[in-house]
Amino acid sequence: MEYVELHCHTHYSLLDAASSPMELLLEQKRKGSSALAITDHNTLRGVPAFLRAAKAVGVRPIIGCELNVEAELGGHSSITHLVLLVANIKGLHHLQELVGMANEQGAVTKKDLRIRASGLIALSGCLAGEIPRLSIFGDEQRAGEAVREYQEIFGKENFYLEVQNHGLLEEDMITKRLLELSETCGAPLVATNDVHYALQEDQPFHDLLLCLQQGCTMQDEDRMSFPSKEYDGKGAEEMRRLFRDCPEAVEDTTKIAERCLEDEDLRRFLNMADEHEMEQRFGQTVVDATGDAKSISSSVAKDYDQRHAKRFARIVRFTDITKARREVARVFGPEDESMAEKLCRMAQEICDGN
Ligand SMILES: [Zn+2]
Ligand SMILES: [Zn+2]
Repeated sequence: MEYVELHCHTHYSLLDAASSPMELLLEQKRKGSSALAITDHNTLRGVPAFLRAAKAVGVRPIIGCELNVEAELGGHSSITHLVLLVANIKGLHHLQELVGMANEQGAVTKKDLRIRASGLIALSGCLAGEIPRLSIFGDEQRAGEAVREYQEIFGKENFYLEVQNHGLLEEDMITKRLLELSETCGAPLVATNDVHYALQEDQPFHDLLLCLQQGCTMQDEDRMSFPSKEYDGKGAEEMRRLFRDCPEAVEDTTKIAERCLEDEDLRRFLNMADEHEMEQRFGQTVVDATGDAKSISSSVAKDYDQRHAKRFARIVRFTDITKARREVARVFGPEDESMAEKLCRMAQEICDGN
């Protein structure tokens, strides 16, 4: 039996994920996967590089995104996470529109989703998803209502409850609740890893990126870091072991992948699209003469995506190895040459669109 990663961040989730599309594809292929999804935060800018690399590696590409969605939590409006996967060409158009709106407004609303749900398969997201967060609060009733609302928006067969296991106690508790919700609401489960790096040995580099993102050092005690070192991509055997209690959540990843890969028009587009068409569709980020980053996007995402542009501008600085060394020394204390080189290489790859 195969396992397909359906929730995976590439280094286009700027300063939040450590591996290039190529590294992730190669590693998942080595682990026995024939397909992989790209689901960066609120952007599709990694898609052209992902498609090119997938073709070269011989892994089938699934296009997706982890989108900010506005939801009512504890009496006020909050930003939550939702993973969307493209199942056909209409879904691709819808996802492009939604990403544009998320950048313009900071998050999309349920109403935005309702109008653009067709052609998309939705997964309930990480611990920052609406349903996991309601489950953490112990608000069973609201969690059930949220599941039914998403089922109604996307169609019952297109909404999955996402279970993750990075060895966290919190996840144990939430998985139990999600298993119950799956039974009561008839929503199938899907296992993901919320991949943020290709290999476990990339975890320190990922930690460095989080420090750069927050402007802090490794020594800062209250800095945000990931709660475990298990955010690498996994293979079928390991996933079966991690999800002993719900093997169908692992098995269903291949069924979802097949659904995302069977649409003829979408397949044709992904195979045929040339570079120009890709840029038109997914936009690109360019640096102007002053070193400022600007996002130039297609007609749907004509927004000036400021947050993305700011992070991009920060990354551009690291293409200068002297600056990369200085930043690494600031974050780690003693200089780490291999980290500085890795940072410089990553910055170069992002700027070159790889
Ligand atoms: Zn998330
Ligand atoms: Zn994620």
